[in-house]
Amino acid sequence: MARAGQELIERRTALKLAAALWLSTQNRRVSALPPQRIVVIGGGIIGCAISYYLAKAGAQVALLERDTLASKASRGTFAWINATWAKQPRHYHRLNQMGLDGWHQLEQALNIPIRWGGSLEWFSSRERQVTLAADIEEQASWGEDAEMLSGTEVSALEPNLTVSADLAVAYSGGDGALDPVVACQRLAAGAQQHQAQILEHCEVHSASPNDEGSITLSTSLGDWVADRYVLATGADSMTAQTLAGVTIPQRSTPGVIVITKPLPRLIHRVIAAPGIHLHQRDDGKIVIGEQSGAPDNVAHSLRLRQRPTRFPTETTALAHAERMLAITRQYLPAAVEAEVDEVLIGWRPLPIDGHPVLGTPSASPASYLAIMHSGITLAPIVGQLVAQELLTKTPSPHLTHYRPDREFSSVARY
Ligand SMILES: Cc1cc2nc3c(=O)[nH]c(=O)nc-3n(C[C@H](O)[C@H](O)[C@H](O)COP(=O)(O)OP(=O)(O)OC[C@H]3O[C@@H](n4cnc5c(N)ncnc54)[C@H](O)[C@@H]3O)c2cc1C
Repeated sequence: MARAGQELIERRTALKLAAALWLSTQNRRVSALPPQRIVVIGGGIIGCAISYYLAKAGAQVALLERDTLASKASRGTFAWINATWAKQPRHYHRLNQMGLDGWHQLEQALNIPIRWGGSLEWFSSRERQVTLAADIEEQASWGEDAEMLSGTEVSALEPNLTVSADLAVAYSGGDGALDPVVACQRLAAGAQQHQAQILEHCEVHSASPNDEGSITLSTSLGDWVADRYVLATGADSMTAQTLAGVTIPQRSTPGVIVITKPLPRLIHRVIAAPGIHLHQRDDGKIVIGEQSGAPDNVAHSLRLRQRPTRFPTETTALAHAERMLAITRQYLPAAVEAEVDEVLIGWRPLPIDGHPVLGTPSASPASYLAIMHSGITLAPIVGQLVAQELLTKTPSPHLTHYRPDREFSSVARY
C-alpha cells in the first residue's frame, strides 16, 4: 500500500513538472515575439487574470469593464478554490488542480490573501454519503490529498462545528478560499504595473474588422483598435452573440451569498454542509452560500428575468440572510452573534455541459472566448494559458476539450 501511495505521489509530481515545463517553454517563446494590441472585455476574475498574464508577457493590453471590476459573478461568488471530486472528468479535474497551483504562485507574486486548509463536505442523504466515499477513494487514487474523516476527527479540526461523532466527512486537503474582489483588484493592479490600461464604466457595443486588417471596438467611451479581443464577459450570453457572432448555450443560475461582519475566528476550513456552504475570510467575515437554487414559480422567474444582483428591498435581503444564518447556526452555533454585512445575488456563467469555453470560434477569428463556471479556481491557469495561446498562436494541449465550436452536450455532472 505504502509503495502504491508513493507511486501516486510521484506520478502527480511528474504531471506537475511536465505542466510547469510546458508553461515555461511557452513563456520563453512569448518573450521573443513583437507586442500585440489586445483588448480584454470584462473585468471579473477571468478578465483580470488574462489581462495580468498578457501584460506581464509584454502585450499592449486594455481591459474594458462595463461596470466596475468584480461587479458580477466575481463578486456574488462563494470563492472556494477547489479541485474536488465534483471536477470531472480527469482532464477537467487536472485543469482545476493547475488552478490551485496557480493560486499558490499568485498569492506570493501579488500578495493576494488566501486561506488554505482544505474543505470538509458531507450530505444528508445516506445514498449520497456512500457515493461521496467512493468519490473520495477515486480522488486518493489520483494522488490527491483526500480522505474520509469521522465526526470525531472533524470536531478536533473544527471545534466550533456541531457534527455527530459517527458522521462520515470528505476532507480535501488542497482547497482554499479568498476574497474575490481583492483578488480582482490585485490582478488588475499587477496588469497596470505592466502598462495595461484599465477602464471601468466602458461598455463594448460592437466589434468590426477595419481597413488596416485589425479590429475596431466601438465602446461607450469611443473606439478602440486591437489586433485581438477577448470576451471574458461571464453569464451574459448575448454579449458573445453580439461581439463574436456565436451562441454559447448556458444555463446560468442564481445563487444567494451572505457576508457577515467580521467575527473572531470560528472556522478554519471551507465547510460544505447539507444546504449551506461556509468559509471565514482573512478579514474575519463569514461567507455563506446556499446550495439550492431559486424557487421554481412564475413570480420568481419574472423577477429574475433582469438578472438582479441585489434583492429589491433591504427587508427581503435581510429575510434571505436570516434564513441562511438559521441553517448556518445549526452547524455553527457560535455564529449566533453574526451580523449581516452584505447580501448578494450571483449569476453563474455556466456553459451547458459544465465545462469552460476557451478559444477562438471559427465565426470570428479575431476574438477569443473565455467563459466558465469555477472561474475563481481556474483564473490563474486560464489566465496563463489564454495569454500563451494568444501570443504564441500555439494551441495548448490543456485546453483541447473546451473549444467554442464543440458540440455542447446538455448532460453535465453538476
Ligand atoms: C453563487 C455563486 C457561487 C460560486 N461559487 C464558486 C466557487 O465556490 N468556486 C469557483 O471557482 N467558482 C464559483 N463560482 C463561479 C465563479 O464565480 C465564476 O466562474 C467567475 O466569477 C466568472 O468570472 P468572469 O470574470 O468570467 O465573469 P464575471 O465576474 O461575471 O465578469 C464578467 C464581466 O464582463 C462585463 N461585461 C459583460 N459584457 C460587457 C461588455 N459588452 N462591455 C464591457 N464589459 C462587459 C460584466 O460587467 C462583468 O463585470 C460561483 C458563482 C456564483 C454566482
